[in-house]
Amino acid sequence: MRLSLPKKYNQKILRACREFELIAPGDRILVGFSGGKDSAFLLFALALLVKYGVLPVELAAVTIDLGFEPPLDPRPLQQFCDQLGVEFTYLSTQIARVVEEEKEHCAYCAHLRRGRMNRFAAEQGFNKLALAHHHDDAVETFLMSIIYSGQIRTFLPKTYLDRSQVTVIRPLAYLREQEIVAALPYVPYQPAANNCPFAGLTYRQKVKELIAELTAENEWVYPNLAKAMRAGRPVELWPPEWERGRD
Ligand code: SF4
Repeated sequence: MRLSLPKKYNQKILRACREFELIAPGDRILVGFSGGKDSAFLLFALALLVKYGVLPVELAAVTIDLGFEPPLDPRPLQQFCDQLGVEFTYLSTQIARVVEEEKEHCAYCAHLRRGRMNRFAAEQGFNKLALAHHHDDAVETFLMSIIYSGQIRTFLPKTYLDRSQVTVIRPLAYLREQEIVAALPYVPYQPAANNCPFAGLTYRQKVKELIAELTAENEWVYPNLAKAMRAGRPVELWPPEWERGRD
């Protein structure tokens, strides 16, 4: 069976690659493959672009097993990578044990997981680490950041990490989550069940549901949030708070 994706997916990925200068010929790219739907789609889409000569880069995948129960079975992930001709590495960690006690478990978990992935990428000589964050993730992060940390920010499509000298790239930046779900029948892989006990109980889930609820009432809510996270939009903010002792 010839593996393929509808044209619009490649177009959106290549648009992100061009616009944000994500990928250059000769890159060694490590894909963060959690076993879930988004990273499976990213790995599949990039592997096809490499296979058909569109992206002249080297690709490999890494899975960081967080250590939640039941353990993630690496065999289907390995089989998928074999089918794509992509080298696969599975790293076991005790991150679950460390974060289960934490109040802010997700922030800490993501921090530890990213650290492990960055370290592995640097040790193995990869210059890019591709993550499967999509457009909805960026918009949700933008709103979460305002609501929960009082900062107007989101993650960037491309970030250079000084410490590991690896560049994190997000080639799915222009894809909506429902577009990825719609593409799953093309991907010869059954996404692994999420074994994290906090899945669905996160701030992100609350914000996702809030955006969906507001967008159901007013279709402009999501596009307006997406516009607001772009640099160059009108910004009118109060001056900084006075320092202590001035009043
Ligand atoms: S939902 Fe679970 S796996 Fe995801 S960041 Fe939070 S603790 Fe980690």
